[in-house]
Amino acid sequence: MISFKLSAHFHHYLNALRGENKRIGFIPTMGALHQGHLSLIQASKTENDITVCSIFVNPTQFNNADDLKNYPRTIEKDLELLTSVGCDVVFIPDVKEVYADKADYAFDLGVADKVMEATHRPGHFNGVINVVKRLFDLVQPNKAYFGQKDFQQCLVIKKMVDHYAMPVELVFCATTRETDGLAMSSRNMRLSTEERQIAPYIYKVLQGAKTQFADTSPYELKNWVSHELLKQPMLELEYFDVCDAATLSPLQSWDDAQNIVACIAVHLGPVRLIDNILLK
Ligand code: AMP
Repeated sequence: MISFKLSAHFHHYLNALRGENKRIGFIPTMGALHQGHLSLIQASKTENDITVCSIFVNPTQFNNADDLKNYPRTIEKDLELLTSVGCDVVFIPDVKEVYADKADYAFDLGVADKVMEATHRPGHFNGVINVVKRLFDLVQPNKAYFGQKDFQQCLVIKKMVDHYAMPVELVFCATTRETDGLAMSSRNMRLSTEERQIAPYIYKVLQGAKTQFADTSPYELKNWVSHELLKQPMLELEYFDVCDAATLSPLQSWDDAQNIVACIAVHLGPVRLIDNILLK
C-alpha cells in the first residue's frame, strides 16, 4: 500500500493511474478503522482496479470541540488493517492540506438539513460536504463507498453529487454489526465495559420497532421507543424519527412513503451513538 500526505503528490499519482484507464474506488473515513470500514474497502476491491482510502478527522463537521478532541485516533493500527485487506492507496492529509482554499461549498439541502442529525449537530452536513467535495475533486473516483449506518449522510452526499453533477457512482453499503447487534462505530471504543454491555439495547429497540410498526401510528411508535429506552437509565434518547427513506421527511402516516427508515441517536456516557433500521 502506498500512502500520501500531500494533495499534489496524491493527485499526480492517481492521474497517472486514470491515464492507464484504471477504475478507482474511494472510501473516505475518519480513521479508527473497524470491520464496518473494511467492508467498504472490500466492496470497492471487488468492483475497481484501485482502491483508495482517506483518513482525515475533519474538524469542520464537528460541532462539539470535546467530541473532536476525543475522537479516537489509531493511525498505526489503521494502516495495518488497510494493508491486511489489500487497500492500494491511503491519503492521510493534515488540515491545511485539505483546506488549502477558502471555498465554502454550500447549497440548499432541503429537508435533509432540517431533521435529525442536522437539527442536533448544526453545521455538521456543511462540514461533511466541504470535505467530501474536496476529496472527490482530488481523487475523481469512478465509485465511492459509504455506510448506511450514516443514513442521512448518504442522502446528503447523493444531493451533493447531483448538485455539482459529479461523475461518480455512489455505493451505499449495509451496516456492519457486532454479534450482539451493536452497529460498529469508531466511537464504540470510548465506551466503558458497562456501557458496552448496554449499547446493544439500542438495536434491540429498533428491531422491536420494526416488528410492531404496522400495528401502530408513527406517533405511537415514537412514544413506545421513548418508553423502552427509559428502561435503561444510562441511555439518554436524543431523537427517534420515522422518515420517508427517499427524502427524510418525517411521517405522519405509514402510507406517506414507499420506503421507511427509523433513525435514532442516543447518548451513553461520554459517547453519542446513532443507528437506523429500514421499517419498510
Ligand atoms: P467514519 O470514519 O465514521 O466517517 O466512516 C467512514 C465511512 O464508513 C462512512 O461512509 C460510514 O458510514 C462508514 N461506516 C461507519 N461505520 C460503519 C458500519 N458499522 N458499517 C458500515 N459502514 C460504516
